[in-house]
This record gives sequence, C-alpha cells and structure tokens, in this order.
Amino acid sequence: MEPPRQYSLNLPGIERETLEVDVLLVGAGAANLACAIQLSRLLAARGLEGKSILVLEKAGDIGDHTLSGAVMNPRGMAELFPDWRARGCPVDSDVKWDAVEILYSPRKSKRLTGMLVPPQFRNHGNVIVSMNKVVRWMKGEAEAAGVQVYPGFAAAEILFDGQAAAERVAGVVTRDSGIGKHGEKKDNFQPGMNVRARATVFGEGPRGNLAKHLVRRHALDARANPQMYGTGVKEIWEIPAARGAEWLGGVLHTGGYPLGTVGYGGSFVYGLPENRLALGFVVGLDHPDAQLDPHALFVRWKQHPSMQAILAGGKVLGYGAKTVPEGGYWSMPRLYGESYVLVGDSAGFLNVATLKGVHLAIKSGMLAAEALADALAFGDTSAARLARYQDLFSASWAKEELYGVRNFRQAFESGLVPGMLDAGVQMLTGGHGLRARRTNRADHQTMQPARLSRTQKPSYDGQGSMDKLTDVYHSGTVHDEDQPAHLLVKDTTICVERCTKEFGNPCQHFCPAAVYEWPAEGAPKGPTVNFSNCVHCKTCDIADPYENIEWVVPEGGGGPKYANM
Ligand code: SF4
Repeated sequence: MEPPRQYSLNLPGIERETLEVDVLLVGAGAANLACAIQLSRLLAARGLEGKSILVLEKAGDIGDHTLSGAVMNPRGMAELFPDWRARGCPVDSDVKWDAVEILYSPRKSKRLTGMLVPPQFRNHGNVIVSMNKVVRWMKGEAEAAGVQVYPGFAAAEILFDGQAAAERVAGVVTRDSGIGKHGEKKDNFQPGMNVRARATVFGEGPRGNLAKHLVRRHALDARANPQMYGTGVKEIWEIPAARGAEWLGGVLHTGGYPLGTVGYGGSFVYGLPENRLALGFVVGLDHPDAQLDPHALFVRWKQHPSMQAILAGGKVLGYGAKTVPEGGYWSMPRLYGESYVLVGDSAGFLNVATLKGVHLAIKSGMLAAEALADALAFGDTSAARLARYQDLFSASWAKEELYGVRNFRQAFESGLVPGMLDAGVQMLTGGHGLRARRTNRADHQTMQPARLSRTQKPSYDGQGSMDKLTDVYHSGTVHDEDQPAHLLVKDTTICVERCTKEFGNPCQHFCPAAVYEWPAEGAPKGPTVNFSNCVHCKTCDIADPYENIEWVVPEGGGGPKYANM
C-alpha cells in the first residue's frame, strides 16, 4: 500500500545542502528544550560531549509561537533544574488563591472558593508563568549546555531512508524561502536544507504537521483512541491598578455560559504582575455545532456581567489561539519508531482534568533524552533501542498521573451531565469510572448538519469585545504575503458542492483568525484564504469535517509574535 502523501510547499528537484547532526529536535517548546538539555548532560556523563544536538524552530525567535495558560505544576521543571527558581526561571507569581465560578445563565453566576473548589482546580504550590518567557529562558540554558538552537527554520518534510516497513527517519528538509505566491522562484530564493540526524525528536506542539504525518504513515495510533483537541483563545489585559493588586496570583476557572450543557469547555483568568490578566476560553472540537466559533464564545463569555466586573476599565494588550490535545492516556500514540521519538503535546502529554501539561511535557523530554543517550552510546537508534522511552514512560509518575484520569475527557463526549456523573465516579475509582476504557470519535467526525446549528454571534464594540481581525492585530502576526498559502484546501469542489450544503462551510466560523472567507452569495471557486492572518493554531487541520484542509509550514519566521502569552 502507498504511504500517505507528505504535503509540503518546497519546490521539487532542487539541490540542497546537507547538514549532519547526531540528534535533531523539531520545535523549541518546553518538551524539546528539556530533552536537549537533559541529553547534553547525559552524553557528557558518558564522555560523549562531542555529539551534536540541534533544535530547529519555525518562529522568528524562540517563544514567538508559544502560547499556554499557564499555571505550571513545577514538578517537571524541578526535576530538570532542582534550583529552577534560584537559577532564574521566570515566574509571574505563585498562586495565591483559587476560585471556580459557575455561570449558570447569561447574567447570573455563583463563585466557589476555599474548600468548595473541586480538587482538580486547586493550585496551591503551582506558579503562574508566561510560557514565552519560560522557553526563552530554557533556550539560554540549552545553549549553555552546548545545544545549538536555530530559530526561523521551519521543518517542511521528513527525510526517510530505506523502503516501506524497513524505513527510518533520517531527519528533515527545511522550508524553501523566496517562492512567490504562484509557486515561482523569486530573486531572493533560498533552498531549504537537508538536516540529517541519527535520531530525530518531534516536539512540534499540538497537531504538529510532521508528527501527524508520522503517526499516520507508521500507524503509531493503531491502538489509541483518536486524539481529541480543544481550541483555546487567549488575551492579555491590563486592568485598573486597585483591581490588579487584588488579582495578582489569583486563579479563576469558569464553566457554564456560554456553552451551557452542550460541548466541553470553560475559561480561565490568571492574575499577573503589573495589573495584567491572562484570560482565555477553551472549547472541545468535538462540539456538534457546525458553526462552532471559539472566538465568538470567548467574546460572549467576556460580555457576561461577572467578567465585565473584572475587565471594566481595562484594555487588551495581546491575543493568540492554539489547540490543546485533550484525549489523554488513551489517545497517546506509540512514542517511538525507527530513529525517532515524539514528545510533549505532539504525543498528547497533557492532563486535561487539571488543565496542565507543562510538567508532563518536560518529563517526556527528559525520559526521551535517557533513551536517546543510551541509543547514541550503543551506536544504535533503532526502534528496538528507542522503545526504552516507552518503558521509561510506563514506569514514571507521568504515566501514573495520566492513567489516573484516562477516561476523563472521553466521558464528556456524550454531554456535560453524563460527563460530570462519570467524572465523579472516576474520582472514587482511580480513573476507571463507569467503563474500563472509553472510546471516542475523531473531532472531524462529530459535526452535525448546518441546519441544526444554534450558535449565536456576539456584538462587537472594538474595545473589550473585539472582532477577529482586531484581535489578530494584537497577536503581532506577520507572513510575507508573496508566498503560496500554507493552508492547502485539497479539493475545492468538496467545499463548493458538498460542504456548503451539508455544513455551511464551518471554516469561516471555527478559525479564530478570520482566515477563511465566504461571501454571502456563495463562492463558486471555494473560500478566500487570507493565510497571512494565520496564528498557527491548527484548528482547521483538525476540525474540517472532510479533512480537506492541510496545514503546512509557511516560510520560516512567519506567524504570530506572542509576548507574555
Ligand atoms: Fe488556526 Fe487554521 Fe485559522 Fe490558521 S487558518 S488560525 S491554523 S484555524
């Protein structure tokens, strides 16, 4: 059988330079940087300092594409650096108080504090961080440990050596730059580079385009549930000083409005220094409504009187969006193959019950590093050797934590009330709940016909309630417009002839950056794709009901420029 097609915008038949390294890490998030740092130490301990470790990152600068809540459980960071705070890991605040608020109608709510806060929302001992700042700091630590970190290099394709079942991953090809929008070479054309490695680590974040290809090509998810995703939409606000002081170190989660009892999701508000708040709304992409619009839900949530009381007199400083792998233990693919491993969000290391993944991402990178160090010492990066990573995971606290909430997210696929009932039983049964193993559909299979849609769009005022384009401005997103669109709509006849009738072209709703535009009278040739707005959240790649949209990397350096996210 033919392997699935690998999509890329690179020009065929181009001669490329080759760079050879021992270990290549694709993506400079927390998991890969932890892996690189730990690997460098382990190799040094074995007298193998000469091995080369290279991290490639598609963003123009490390952290520019990193977005998370984030309340960090410090367990992973403290394993990587026992003196992490004294060493300068940037922390916005210790968590000082927790609350949960039920928004039970468009105007009413009830706040729970103290012992009434459910256990999974208690954050004593955790810290509020900006993951932009954390990964920038980790990059410095990695470089100090001898790791090379190259921002602005987008990995566009996987290099394979060998044939079919015996093939191994031999590295990646980086994205060509200087290709015009019609695919022509421009004067500034620069071919991508072949980066060949003895082992490659894929830590591209949620729905990494290369990790997705590998999972399908090598059936790494043959025994797993389909991964489930949520889309998170986030803003940074500055609020008046008196309220800002009250909020520093505060952690609030809300549920209920505007989702009601259909769909899985909720919001967060975290208190930062300098009278700033991080606030966001996350909604599961298994929501059945064909007009599901994460950004619109976020705006409606901000318009609830409880949120208005928090935000009054404030202003928006930043915006971003990203998907979150929510499926947990049952959705994790096999973590290794011939000369490669998957780490962090790309492998589903996230505890959705506690809304935390940074500590698990760091742990996954450290475990992968142990297996990689052994493999390099033996001169053998085969799958049989790298299987040690899976064994290390199975014996770790990360597995224990994820296994303890293994059925959590799937229980909500049939609705909020059955989900809460099952989640309650899971707490009493060590994660078992009402069924030993819950299954789920892939998110793109859960959409109902457009005629059943009940989505309401909010009103916008251009200040607190911004439309998508105003918010994209706050994300700092820039792409060179004279390049081919990096959102590949594989077959526009599906858009025009089927999707319009069946689902009402949901891409115009679910994208939180207004990339897909359909004129009211219909578009005979498919959507207009305003790719330069894309904030790289990957929602379209996941949620399109025909899997007709493929997200591939644009030229290196393009995309959002997140600060304090
Ligand atoms: Fe996200 Fe896709 Fe929209 Fe880009 S085009 S912002 S990846 S939904």
